[in-house]
Parts: sequence; C-alpha cells; structure tokens
Amino acid sequence: MNDEELAQGAAAPDAGREAVTPTITPETDKLFRRGWVFIRGVPAMKFLPPEGPPEVAFAGRSNVGKSSLINALVRHKGLARTSNTPGRTQELNYFVPDGFSGEKGDLPPMGIVDMPGYGYAKAPKPQVEAWTKLVFDYLRGRVTLKRVYVLIDSRHGLKAIDEEVLGLLDKAAVSYQVVLTKADKIKEPALVKLVEETAKKIVRRPAAFPQVLATSSEKGWGMDELRMAITTAVEYRPRA
Ligand code: GDP
Repeated sequence: MNDEELAQGAAAPDAGREAVTPTITPETDKLFRRGWVFIRGVPAMKFLPPEGPPEVAFAGRSNVGKSSLINALVRHKGLARTSNTPGRTQELNYFVPDGFSGEKGDLPPMGIVDMPGYGYAKAPKPQVEAWTKLVFDYLRGRVTLKRVYVLIDSRHGLKAIDEEVLGLLDKAAVSYQVVLTKADKIKEPALVKLVEETAKKIVRRPAAFPQVLATSSEKGWGMDELRMAITTAVEYRPRA
C-alpha cells in the first residue's frame, strides 16, 4: 500500500474507528508484534546512535498520550513510560525491535524515537531553550529520520504551541503527519469534524503529510493504520 492509498483508506467517514477490512500487512503486523526495547536516551546530538536504520519520531505536548500511543503500537505496556521519568524528559528516547545485536550487519530494521514532550506550562525558560535546541539539531541533522508524528489531543485540537512545532518541522523540511490521540474522548461526529478541520489547517504547510489520523490507544483505534503509515514511511522490507 502506498501513501496515497493509505490516505484514501484513512479518509473514510469512519476515520479512527476500527476498520472493517484488514488494514495491515502480515509483515508490518509481525514487526510490531516483536518485542521492542529501549536502547538509549539521547540528551545531545553527539550521543545519537550511528546513522543507519531509518527512524520515525513522535512529538507532542506533555500529556498528549505519547507514551500510551508508543506502548500500544508495540504492545508493550510501560516501555515508553519507563524511560520518561522526570529529569530525563529532555532526551530523545530510542526504541528498536528486539533481537538485533546492533553490530554492523545485524542492525534493527528501523527505530522509533520518543521526543521530549513540549508545552509544559511550568517549564523554566532554559528548559524550553534546551528542548528547542536538541529538537531542532535533531530534525535538521538526522538524515535517517523519515517522518515525525505530531500528536494532538482530540479534545483540544491544534494549539498555538503545536503550530509553532509544525513551523519548526516545515523549516527543517522534515516530513510529518498529524495524529489525533484519545479519540475515544469525543463523540464520533465531533471526531470526523476535527479530522477535517485539522487537515484544512495544515493544507498549506510544505512538509505536512495531508492525511490526519485519528487514534485511541485505550481502544486500539487507528493502531494498524498508524503501523502501516510507519512502515510505509520507512519503506520497511523484512529481511529474507
Ligand atoms: P504523555 O505525557 O504524552 O506521554 O501522555 P501519557 O501517555 O502518559 O498519557 C497522559 C494521560 O492520558 C494518561 O492519564 C493516559 O491514561 C491518558 N490517555 C492516553 N491515551 C489515551 C487514550 O487513547 N484514551 C484515553 N481516554 N486516555 C488516554
């Protein structure tokens, strides 16, 4: 399935709800059923793992449901949370499928990067500046970063701070897709409207993928669509 087909599939009025037809290939399903492991927290660019496998990153305001979403994607409760302890929140956290030594020739096929949450109301200025520096350096400098998933709480929609982050991504020319979280918290007609309105708001943004996905980690809605979006973005091919 290519990006376009995926977009059309996800544009159905039932956006975000459990799809009737299977939406995931066996290869993608298998990849996300592997155990996934935390490999490292990266406080500065020099600590990044060597560039190799393609990666996707998740960004969003604090409390948007980012840890829950990553854990639901890889079916590993507590994976993202364990590395998100206070004090380590300014790190890029790396997750990879288990079973690869990481030695040359045995690298994992892809990585998922949990970016530090933004928009925490009480964050002191130096912390905000550190976040911006780390994130912008990473976005500009990481060739293997294929797509950023920007998470937006379905109850709040795009806020000014999210628009700022989208601006940062446009400036860094990093492809990104907006993913609504906690879709179970609003009624279906409101969700359909929010998907449409959000898509309209980003239509002129140069690096935005046009399709907006709706998800609920709690209900499992949109998970297979997101898994497929990820493997399509990284052009995942299982090894023979
Ligand atoms: P993070 O700070 O972005 O990592 O957010 P968390 O994943 O820790 O989630 C923040 C809060 O939202 C927690 O209380 C979660 O239980 C709740 N939450 C996360 N995802 C969902 C969801 O899909 N549905 C509902 N109803 N609550 C959610």
